Amino acid sequence: MGSDSPTARVSAATIAVAGRTPDRPPRPRAAGGVWRRLNAPQVVDGAALRAVCIALLAFYVLAAVGRATVGEPLGLWARVPLCVFIGLGVLLAPRFGWTALRAYTIGMVLMLNAATLAMVLRRGNQPAELAVLALALFAPTAFLQTAGDVLAVAAALGVGAVTFSVGWSPTGVTPVVTLTVLAGALGGGALTALMLIAFRVRLSESMTWWREVCARERALREFAEIVAPDVGEASLAHECARRLLAAFGPGSCTIVLAREAGPPCMVATAGRVPPAPDPDALSRLLAALADRRTLSCDPSAPGDLSWAIHDGPAVALPIALDGAVAGAVVLSAAVPRTFAMEDVLVWRAMAAHVGTALGSARLFGRLQAALRVRSEFVNTMSHELRSPLHVILGYAEMLGDEGADDRLAQTRIRACALEVLQLVENTLEVARIGSGRLALQPSDFDPRTVLEELREGSAALPEGERGLQVRWTVAGDLPVVHMDRLKLKEIVHNLLSNALKFTREGVVSVRAGCDGTHLRVEVADTGPGIPPEAQQRIYEMFERVEPSDGPRAGGVGLGLYIVRNLVTLMGGTIALESAPGCGSRFSVALPIRTEAPREARAPGA
Ligand code: ADP
Repeated sequence: MGSDSPTARVSAATIAVAGRTPDRPPRPRAAGGVWRRLNAPQVVDGAALRAVCIALLAFYVLAAVGRATVGEPLGLWARVPLCVFIGLGVLLAPRFGWTALRAYTIGMVLMLNAATLAMVLRRGNQPAELAVLALALFAPTAFLQTAGDVLAVAAALGVGAVTFSVGWSPTGVTPVVTLTVLAGALGGGALTALMLIAFRVRLSESMTWWREVCARERALREFAEIVAPDVGEASLAHECARRLLAAFGPGSCTIVLAREAGPPCMVATAGRVPPAPDPDALSRLLAALADRRTLSCDPSAPGDLSWAIHDGPAVALPIALDGAVAGAVVLSAAVPRTFAMEDVLVWRAMAAHVGTALGSARLFGRLQAALRVRSEFVNTMSHELRSPLHVILGYAEMLGDEGADDRLAQTRIRACALEVLQLVENTLEVARIGSGRLALQPSDFDPRTVLEELREGSAALPEGERGLQVRWTVAGDLPVVHMDRLKLKEIVHNLLSNALKFTREGVVSVRAGCDGTHLRVEVADTGPGIPPEAQQRIYEMFERVEPSDGPRAGGVGLGLYIVRNLVTLMGGTIALESAPGCGSRFSVALPIRTEAPREARAPGA
């Protein structure tokens, strides 16, 4: 697979789309091609040759001994060199290469004929011996190995046959008849030899083709065994690149993947590492592969693959992920060569498998993250529920005790019960977001009524009772809005309870106004602030910023996750301005008209 094969070749510059796999070996058309194939090296079967030599040796030894016993010593001596030659074949045949085999069969043809001629002449050149000579001309010629050998040997033997028929024609047979018999035998032998060679060529080509097909199938099967999503995306990509290069041959293999943010990048390379390409070149490459065609080029016209080219051609194959082209496998040859169409198809199938394997790795990563989140959730929830429940139990036991402050106990129990309730409500809301059951129920209402309810409620919040100053600035000209009232209240409630929870002293201020299209609500505080590096992740599920000093505030990290999902679902935006030690300001803008009730999967789901 990695090297040129005798089957169909596709010039690298001409591969456009991988088509169907050819189902039979192609045949060369030109006469020059036929002559080349008739003289091409074949597979040497040493064992079969040895078996033939053993059979011949047995025959000639018996013939020689037979001749000797009937008083023909020349019959013995003429066959001795022949038997030695055949004996050499028995010993050496398994080690014969192509050239040795050709030399041996030529030698055999000449020796057989020489031995037979010697016998014919010795026995008086009878007409009956002409048939033996003809047989000696015909039979061994048929075992010659190449068309060139056949023609050369037939010419040499032809000269011998002419000389024989002119000089030593058997008595009573005209030279023309002798020549006709011998030429016919020689011609028949040569023709048979050529037919056998042609048959062997076809057989050998078919065998080579099948061997290549099997090698490709094995390479593909072994490649497809890379199903180890747990090793992680990066290691998997490197392993794929390594295996692809092994199937491709000398050169390099580069795997390019698109990223969620930013231009595509090389995630794995194997072999001769190409210089880091310009990111635009990778973007152009993925765009060119968008229709899933195979791209190819050679050093004379490198095109979009110029960064990958060494001294040979290169080919780029698409990697599909989630139904779209999300990357490419780029194979670049170290030396000039041509790519067989079948090989390109195999590499394409491997590239497709890279997509499947990387998809599995990603899915596996997401599954692991989900399992981590689930166990974090169980841990955090258990912890967060246990603390207020302990407080509730403690104060409940104190109730009615002599000297106990029942009013304080009731206040604490109520505060803790509210905390538990909030936790449960947030959990249910997260479950609704996760399952896509979050539905908007817009109605017309005056947003001031919502803000008023929140203002009254904030005083009753556990944090609100610490005596923090809460300033409400609500514009007098707020219009009636058409949106989901409960969700608006939930958004502001979450932001306000965070501000109250995290602010030890100072002021919490809530501002509400309208710019004609959007209702704008701002919740600011003088609390500890949020470091810049955490300002994006606090909107993720269970993300919290632990205080560097001081006690840890309660909460499981669901509030802002819910807020962001609700705001996005309502078609609005949320922004944060904050710095450590300088407080935080969350600004929400919501369209004042939500056109129609819609049920949608929230973005974070
Ligand atoms: P919870 O408050 O339940 O921990 P949230 O999702 O509401 O979860 O908030 C996530 C994190 O963001 C909080 O743990 C906190 O570290 C930070 N945060 C949110 N609001 C504020 C605020 N007003 N001031 C300081 N930090 C805040």
